[in-house]
Amino acid sequence: MIYYHRTIATTIDSYAAQRLLQSSSHYSDSRCFVPSYLELVKSWYGIDKRHTTTREDTFFYGSPGTLAAYAEQAAIALQNARLAHLLAEEKRRVEAILEHSADGIMSVDSRRLVLSFNSTMEKLTGYSRHEVLGKECFRILQLRGRGGERLCVSQCPVLMSDTESGSTFEQQGIIRTKDGQYVNVNMVYSIIRSPEGKPINAVVNVRDISEAVQLENLRETFLSMLGHELQTPLTIIKGYASTLARTDSNWNEETLRNSLKVIESETDHLCRVVDRLLLASRMSAGTPVLRKEPVQLPVLAKKVVRRLQAMTDAHTFELDFDSDFPSVPVDPALIEEVLANLVENAIKYSPDGGKITISGRLANSQVMVTVTDEGIGIPAGQIEHLFKRFSRVDKGLARTIRGVGLGLYICKSIVEAHGGKIEVYSQPSKGSQFTFSLPFEPQG
Ligand code: ADP
Repeated sequence: MIYYHRTIATTIDSYAAQRLLQSSSHYSDSRCFVPSYLELVKSWYGIDKRHTTTREDTFFYGSPGTLAAYAEQAAIALQNARLAHLLAEEKRRVEAILEHSADGIMSVDSRRLVLSFNSTMEKLTGYSRHEVLGKECFRILQLRGRGGERLCVSQCPVLMSDTESGSTFEQQGIIRTKDGQYVNVNMVYSIIRSPEGKPINAVVNVRDISEAVQLENLRETFLSMLGHELQTPLTIIKGYASTLARTDSNWNEETLRNSLKVIESETDHLCRVVDRLLLASRMSAGTPVLRKEPVQLPVLAKKVVRRLQAMTDAHTFELDFDSDFPSVPVDPALIEEVLANLVENAIKYSPDGGKITISGRLANSQVMVTVTDEGIGIPAGQIEHLFKRFSRVDKGLARTIRGVGLGLYICKSIVEAHGGKIEVYSQPSKGSQFTFSLPFEPQG
């Protein structure tokens, strides 16, 4: 009997069953199997008194070889169970990784029918996996190039590629979500081929690159704005300065004065552009540190008007603050910047002149300051974008007026840093009203 047990133990041991018995929860299935197998063997050998009759005779006396073979089979089964368990475990692990990947991942077959679709793909496209499994991926994603060309039709790597072109392909484009939104994506295709080189499956990794595309657009806008807003005044300054410096001409006093005025005004413009750029970069670096103190906004508004009315002869200015308008705790330099931007815009964007009113009201624990003009107004579709960096109305008269598209972005950042908000109401050809509100707690 000892011999048989040793045989069993040796055989099982040779397949690492001992390790399985000792190991922890990883092998819980195998561990269940081994004791039950040993129990069975013990029962056949009469160790378990409930099974000591014919079976014991048969195996004990008659079939030692059968027992050894049985032990070997059991060990193989054990090994298979272990491998199947590891395989299932590995499959679960890979599925969990794919499912929780920050990138969208889907797989398709050679006919481009969707085989799998992870949760990021669901979020990205708005489709649930139940809606897309078994459907053609090109009907779901409708990938297009930036110029609108249908890439799923003209450049799908699953259809177009062959063994020579490789197995990994990258493509950028725009997909259409279930609710009709457009998302910029980068797609990486890994194509699995048969030995004959035909595509069997493709795993497609889809990454939302909207932010990167926006940054790229911002960079291009910034460069073209710099080109225009810096180069134009520099060219004018250079032109006037070289003309005045010519030794072969005598300029009369009036020409000299007018030329110097142009140089001065273009230099002022350059300074304003650079100031805006610096302030905008300070705002986008994070919420500015506020040096708050109680400020009389009507007094601040008067100061701004006095400074800016030198820019124009065509406008009249009116201040209309409630008589009991309180002093408000704000950063005076930054709120002056907001008022100056709004009043300067009111002047710039009403080229035919008119009245510009700055009014102030106290209502519901907040103060509201409004700058109203009678200028060109803003088309409705453009309003929501105006507070973004470098955003400008590029239609009609507005595009002929110089600007860098940073003033309103700066205003919004400053007002929000104070816990307030800024809004605009405008009618094309009739004028605009910019209102910023700041929280205010009356004392006592
Ligand atoms: P900039 O004036 O330098 O272009 P802003 O950020 O101050 O930049 O303004 C963004 C855009 O909003 C302007 O280009 C203009 O089209 C529009 N805008 C701003 N204020 C007014 C206004 N009072 N009336 C009409 N359009 C305005």
